[in-house]
Amino acid sequence: MSQSLINYICNEVLIMSSKLKIYNTLTRKTEAFEPITKGYVGLYVCGPTVYSNAHLGNARTYISFDIIYRYFLHLGFKVRYVRNITDAGHLEGDLDEGEDKFAKRAKLEQVEPMEIVQKYTVDFHQILSDFNTLPPSIEPTATGHIIEQIEMTQRIIENGYAYVTDGTVYFDVEKFAKAHNYTVLSNRNLDELLNNTRTLGGQDEKKGRLDFALWIKAKPEHLMKWSSPWGVGFPGWHIECSAMSTKYLGPEFDIHGGGMDLIPTHHTNEIAQNIACNHAQPAKIWMHTNMLTVNGQKMSKSLGNSFLPHELFSGNHPILDKGYSPMSVRFFMLQAHYRSTLDFSNEALQAAEKGLGRLFQAAELLTKIQAGSKSTFGVSEYAEKLYAAMNEDFNTPVLIAHLFEGVKLINQLDENKASLTLEDKHAFENIFNSFLFDILGLKSEVAGGAEKVDELMQLILQIRGEAKARKDFASSDQIRDRLKSIGIEIKDGKEGTSFQMGRNN
Ligand code: AMP
Ligand code: ZN
Repeated sequence: MSQSLINYICNEVLIMSSKLKIYNTLTRKTEAFEPITKGYVGLYVCGPTVYSNAHLGNARTYISFDIIYRYFLHLGFKVRYVRNITDAGHLEGDLDEGEDKFAKRAKLEQVEPMEIVQKYTVDFHQILSDFNTLPPSIEPTATGHIIEQIEMTQRIIENGYAYVTDGTVYFDVEKFAKAHNYTVLSNRNLDELLNNTRTLGGQDEKKGRLDFALWIKAKPEHLMKWSSPWGVGFPGWHIECSAMSTKYLGPEFDIHGGGMDLIPTHHTNEIAQNIACNHAQPAKIWMHTNMLTVNGQKMSKSLGNSFLPHELFSGNHPILDKGYSPMSVRFFMLQAHYRSTLDFSNEALQAAEKGLGRLFQAAELLTKIQAGSKSTFGVSEYAEKLYAAMNEDFNTPVLIAHLFEGVKLINQLDENKASLTLEDKHAFENIFNSFLFDILGLKSEVAGGAEKVDELMQLILQIRGEAKARKDFASSDQIRDRLKSIGIEIKDGKEGTSFQMGRNN
């Protein structure tokens, strides 16, 4: 790349990073992004509760934050992205009622709770890797931070905002609400909440209806439990995020995120805990992703309308007409803004599949286009449009519309109806590819994915093996040479024949 091109891109990025605006749930406004420390971003996103397979709705939330993470990286920020794994302490109801999710599942599958945690953590990572999301910088677990959660609970008690009843520690919401705005995030009316929240059978050790547990006394048969100053128990769900965000990002950091459904309880309680412990509202910006819906209803396990990513990839589900590749699904998700609901439909997925194919074809075509003697359109004006879309609260649908304008330009270049000088062509290619591949995180995929390639290769190797067995060396050599010419090297060894993909494949 020429020095002037590098300077141009660096300048562009520098200017653009100062124009980023983000919608803040806390202020209900779109605000100019000002990092606490210049050049750095601290980002905390609530991770999954690993007691069952992550469904497509969960994936939408993590794909949305992946775009946000990727865009910050592209703008040159040094990002510490913390996304936890909830592997303890999540009861079925948000209000500390019901069975422990892990214990219930462990009983059902007749395994240890930690085997449930392991199984579904692996599943979660696999799904996110299928969708080409980048791993976070730190992925702390609740069970790995029991001490931090106990310490935070202790400090909240010392500060007068929590009380102990028979081995369980409750956060005193009414007392907190006298000094602070407990519903600052949800903007709900506290009195209405107090009046509407039902009293829970067997939970009368709570002083107030909205009080929630920081530490829960374990019944003797409970397996995941730890010693604490209040006896043997386990942490509540909300305290883990307060403890882990404070530990890795400090008491005040840039952005806290999660799905919108977390606003009224989990995030509201996180803010209260942080203020009660650290005397500081933790995040400057609270970002919330909207829900993936099916026929207008939130996709959720409990409603029975959820399906799993692998069902979508294989097409093996009654509501699906056929299977869709992970990148088509990712692209389908990016066609809606992260704060809008997105309704699942076969038609929208098919359209996404086609649209993505057009973008990839254009990117491929662009590599083959010859430079001209002059430029007939402005690359920096085009780049500015792409940045402007992302700077407007990560507006991926507008960005995608501009990428399709790029497809038109590429076709015009191909048909000699437009031209770019060599330097401009490189700049255009750089911009187009950066947004398509690095920021939107889309990657070319072989139809059916790596598994299919593997199956096909096994078939080819078997046919070659059979040719060799009948001493048809001409055919077996031809297969080897043809594969080599497309960058696939096969090796005959003692343990059989293996293959290796070349760099370009
Ligand atoms: P959970 O494992 O239930 O704690 O959920 C993990 C994340 O997925 C949370 O941030 C939820 O807000 C989010 N989530 C759950 N259902 C959906 C949905 N239908 N669409 C988008 N995000 C969702
Ligand atoms: Zn959380």
